[in-house]
Amino acid sequence: MSDPRTIMHMDLDSFFVSVERIKDPSLLGKPVIVGGVGARGVVSSCSYEARRYGVHSAMPGAQAHKLCPHGIFLPGDYTAYSDYSRRVTQIIANAAPLFEKASIDEFYVDLTGMDKYFGAYRWATELRQKITRETGLPISFGLSVNKMLAKMATNDAKPNGQLMIERGKEQEFLDPKPVGKIPFVGEKLEESLNKMGIHTIYDLRQMPLENLLSIYGKTGTALWNRARGHSDSPVANFREEKSVSVERTFDSDSADDEFLLSVLFVLTEKLSYDLRKLNRMTGCVTVKIRYEGFVTTSKQHTVDYSLSSKYLIEEATKLFHQLYEKGRPVRLIGVRFSSLIYTGTQYSLFDDKEEETKLYSAIDSVKNKYGTGKIMLARGMDMGNVKRNNDISAAMKEQVNRENSQHNRNNAAEEQ
Ligand SMILES: [Mg+2]
Repeated sequence: MSDPRTIMHMDLDSFFVSVERIKDPSLLGKPVIVGGVGARGVVSSCSYEARRYGVHSAMPGAQAHKLCPHGIFLPGDYTAYSDYSRRVTQIIANAAPLFEKASIDEFYVDLTGMDKYFGAYRWATELRQKITRETGLPISFGLSVNKMLAKMATNDAKPNGQLMIERGKEQEFLDPKPVGKIPFVGEKLEESLNKMGIHTIYDLRQMPLENLLSIYGKTGTALWNRARGHSDSPVANFREEKSVSVERTFDSDSADDEFLLSVLFVLTEKLSYDLRKLNRMTGCVTVKIRYEGFVTTSKQHTVDYSLSSKYLIEEATKLFHQLYEKGRPVRLIGVRFSSLIYTGTQYSLFDDKEEETKLYSAIDSVKNKYGTGKIMLARGMDMGNVKRNNDISAAMKEQVNRENSQHNRNNAAEEQ
């Protein structure tokens, strides 16, 4: 076995609510609920005061209203959340040699090797204090030998706390916990385990691997490993750009504005769809235009973290208008999303079904007008260091293999 690593996990406490409280301090100490405002809305984030009434994220707004009728329901300010998320990222980037931005409010830092020199726990404590001092946001951290244990330590430390699992005490930490505390175990899996008499991680550890395998397949192996605190997925370096891209070369050059915008629209929608399939949001949009004679220009723009087709199409369209020299024949249009992060639990903020429905009918009319043959896509992915022992990475690789074309073979994620 290799030397134990030292991994820090950080999570901003009820992040959206905390940002709202900086904007409006009168919300302090009150049951604040972000999301769940509209008839079909879902709770994105809620304060601990609201949690006391049983409200939790991903709960339908109607149910949250029933449980906590005097709660303060806010629609959410995604520009502010993205802005604060980037401020925290910058503080961590300035302090840590290797870190991963896992979602808008969650980070991993690999401190392996540092503990001998500075004391990882002290370093982590100082970083946590610095983040709160400079942004006003409460944040918790956990410290242990791998990502899973560090995250579980953070969950124990919340809110506004910190916890290090001592070396060699990992199993002691895990054993008494309900199986539902294992990060990937959802309600259904927990129920199913409970039905077999498995309630704690200790109980889970008594199940032979063969039994878990025959009942749950691959998930069974994961359960067996997690119950023993085994998890070796690496901290993916945030500095190595992760991106997805798509482009379309035309059979004949076109200077038809309406046609070019339609293509941009379809490309961006397709890429947004891919993003959602990958459970990702993007923080940066790039539009590329190649004119006749292989003259290529591109322009990029930092955007609010998003996976919404509607929003990303608006941003891509803005970039196109800034970039395109009207009347000049175009050979190729490309769109790229970079600064990718996992969606985490805040996905629900974008769950605006009515808007999406309108969008899809608009896309269909574009497809009908120009024919689906016109919008055949060439795709590229450059996922940097995001790989290994990770289902989502596996899905990405599969997708790269399936959809990689001669245009972008060089951009594909390498798994070796
Ligand atoms: Mg959080």
